[in-house]
Amino acid sequence: MKASAFSYARATSVVNALELLVAHGDSAKLMSGGQSLMPAMNLRLISPEMIVDIGELAELRGIAVGGDILSIGALTRHVDLQRSPEIATHAPLLTEAIAHVAHPAIRNRGTIGGSLAHADPASELPACMVALNATIIVRGPKGERRIAAGDFFRGIYQTALSPQELLVAVEVPVARKNSTHFFSEFARRHGDYAIAGLAAQATVQGDVFNGLDMAFFAVGDRPVLAKAVNRLISVPVTPALLSEASAALAAELDPQQDQQASASMRRHLAKVLMVRCVSALLGRPDLAAGGPG
Ligand SMILES: Cc1cc2nc3c(=O)[nH]c(=O)nc-3n(C[C@H](O)[C@H](O)[C@H](O)COP(=O)(O)OP(=O)(O)OC[C@H]3O[C@@H](n4cnc5c(N)ncnc54)[C@H](O)[C@@H]3O)c2cc1C
Repeated sequence: MKASAFSYARATSVVNALELLVAHGDSAKLMSGGQSLMPAMNLRLISPEMIVDIGELAELRGIAVGGDILSIGALTRHVDLQRSPEIATHAPLLTEAIAHVAHPAIRNRGTIGGSLAHADPASELPACMVALNATIIVRGPKGERRIAAGDFFRGIYQTALSPQELLVAVEVPVARKNSTHFFSEFARRHGDYAIAGLAAQATVQGDVFNGLDMAFFAVGDRPVLAKAVNRLISVPVTPALLSEASAALAAELDPQQDQQASASMRRHLAKVLMVRCVSALLGRPDLAAGGPG
């Protein structure tokens, strides 16, 4: 199928892109890498009348470290994240996660801003942003807003962005010295969207978690920051405690059923991921020996 007819404008600056969005209202759509937008248009799931192409705006591209903050421009491509030494040093969770996002051809064009604005609940990067406690920076006709990643994702393909706002950058706190991370997903094939996945960041002292953020994806309408993990912080983790936490996790999730998996299978996979994550981060194979409980 082909997309229905549309007009096209290449924005020359962020200010120009915002002017175009205001001028065309709800009939306009931004395009960054086009890797989610164009398939949706070709399948006629959406039919915008005006495409505002921001893909050439150099001001939205790049990775910089300043103090404790890693800033990533919205147009930074997946491949740039994957190859960046700054990302590998300061947000290694992202380096690991990005290898699971689609395939090289898509990673060569897809951008972090497009991925976050698209807000597919099975997508890796939104969950990473929630686990990393990132801030999402958006600009609109009324100026700039800074939104915690945990408040940004509002539902399937829904975010806190208004139609006249542009996601311009993401800020991620740099990984602390004693921090560690875990990423894993179940997918039919490497590069497919996940059936269930987990992005986690933790600080560990001795054999105890000082902090633990687990963001599950593909098990709800948005990334889910699990509250159940709070019972694993500042205490020695026993198999019984982990079993309690994984049971509490299952109650927090509201997975979709589709042709890939039932809701109960997704809940089960999330519990498996939680157990594997805790076992790996604490270096305790005994915790994973009995399964998710
Ligand atoms: C075959 C295939 C497999 C894929 N597999 C995966 C996968 O496993 N995991 C995964 O996460 N993704 C996957 N993707 C999606 C891919 O990662 C996309 O690159 C990404 O979702 C969107 O990035 P983009 O820059 O191409 O955005 P675009 O397609 O240009 O835009 C996507 C949406 O975001 C909006 N938008 C774009 N940029 C901005 C901005 N700066 N501010 C506000 N709104 C904006 C657009 O209007 C549009 O609604 C897959 C895509 C394909 C085609």
